[in-house]
Amino acid sequence: MHLRESVVVSPEALAEFSALPPLRVLALDAPPMARREADGRTYTGIGIDVWCFVALRLGLRYVIEPEPGLTVAEKIGRIQEGGADVLVPLSLQPERARRGLFTRPYYESRYAIIARKGRELAIHQMADLARYRVGVVHGVAFEPILRGLVPAERLVAYDQASSDGMFEALREGAIDVAVYNRGIFAEKRYSHEYFDLEVVLILREYPRAYRFYFSDTPEHRRLVRAFDRYLAAMDVSDSVAQHEEGESQLIERYVAQRSQRVLLQVASGVAVLLALASFLALRRYRRLSRLLAERNQYILRQQEALRAANRELERQSQTDGLTRLANRRHFDQALAREHARWRRTGAPLSLMLLDVDHFKRVNDHYGHQVGDDYLRAIAQALRSSVVRPADLTARYGGEEFACLMPDTGSEAARAVAERIREEVARLDLPGVPEADHAPVRLSIGIATLAGGHAGAQDLLAAADAQLYAAKRAGRDRVHTVVLD
Ligand code: GH3
Ligand code: MG
Ligand code: MG
Repeated sequence: MHLRESVVVSPEALAEFSALPPLRVLALDAPPMARREADGRTYTGIGIDVWCFVALRLGLRYVIEPEPGLTVAEKIGRIQEGGADVLVPLSLQPERARRGLFTRPYYESRYAIIARKGRELAIHQMADLARYRVGVVHGVAFEPILRGLVPAERLVAYDQASSDGMFEALREGAIDVAVYNRGIFAEKRYSHEYFDLEVVLILREYPRAYRFYFSDTPEHRRLVRAFDRYLAAMDVSDSVAQHEEGESQLIERYVAQRSQRVLLQVASGVAVLLALASFLALRRYRRLSRLLAERNQYILRQQEALRAANRELERQSQTDGLTRLANRRHFDQALAREHARWRRTGAPLSLMLLDVDHFKRVNDHYGHQVGDDYLRAIAQALRSSVVRPADLTARYGGEEFACLMPDTGSEAARAVAERIREEVARLDLPGVPEADHAPVRLSIGIATLAGGHAGAQDLLAAADAQLYAAKRAGRDRVHTVVLD
């Protein structure tokens, strides 16, 4: 960028300009005059280049404000109200000129007529627009010209904040053509992927001239005059060459943005899929864990029930059904076990056999039901008399009972036998008339292993012999023997 001829500004003017507070510069996103960069804070373009060039020479201080998020109309309004000092760039309209100060133009672009590709439109000059439905962005400098040309019912003005609505209408066929800035459209085509749209005619006879727009103050009036002198002398062609991007540069920019977008889409797609997959896996895992826990609980309950059933079965297989005492099988096992223990330890082992005296008569006289009741009562008497945990009381068979007492000598065993007889006497179970109703009694035989080599069966036989002896001796008594 350079000056074709020298420009002289008076030292007083320069002194005044450099004394101004920093100018607040607003920019529009309007390439190639000003393009908002991806960071949203900085601008580049022909208008920016020209601004910097002139401002430097005038000794101006300024701040190009980061995008404030305003529409074009709001930015213009801010200049007109003095909320900012300069707008880069703006094209001249009488209404705007009344409310602010325009410099000379520094760049001219053209309007273009844009249509959908493949539409057979007979448009060779401006006047041909009269036959079509035409779209224009409301408030642009070209709008009044179009109003003079296109019947009002066929001219559609679109929201000033964004031209996107107009291009969408064009693509959907709601309008036939749109009139819009050629340079900005060239960019939009790529940034918005309007590849189904194309320029059908460039309106060379209506250049659109871009200028700086100042708020109206006496200082700014002097500043605009100084700017105009520079603008008249400037050659901006190298800046134009740099910023007026050719098709190939647009394509390059588009491809870069596009691949970045695709990459982002793919990455977010993958992320979503991963999240979904892990969510599903986690849910499945939780469900399976819960199911497994329930199964485990069920199995544990089943196992416990089975163990209880087994225990009951075991107990039943070892218990006599009528008296609930240990049965014969249980007694035989206990006898073998305790005999083996006696062999190891030598501690005395006593075995007592008990037989109800004349029980047949009781049965015959009172009946089996009562006989059973007697047996149950006698069993209870046995249970309460034989109290050591190691002792075992069993129903040996019929009306015979057995008592196995480890670690118990002959005398101690006899004491137990007497206790049993007392208990049974206390029961006072009525006898039969043949015996003058004398209460039911027991005969008891005890054999005690104190030494020697007698086997378990020898012990049993010895106890049985003592019982037999007691019977013969007149019943209702205890006979004992010690084996050693
Ligand atoms: P002894 O004094 O000589 O032992 O005479 P006893 O009548 O008691 O002996 P015996 O062996 O002749 O008879 C035993 C009787 O015990 C026979 C049977 O009626 C009775 N008995 C055996 N088992 C049961 C039982 O489970 N219930 C009932 N009610 N009676 C039984
Ligand atoms: Mg008997
Ligand atoms: Mg008997």
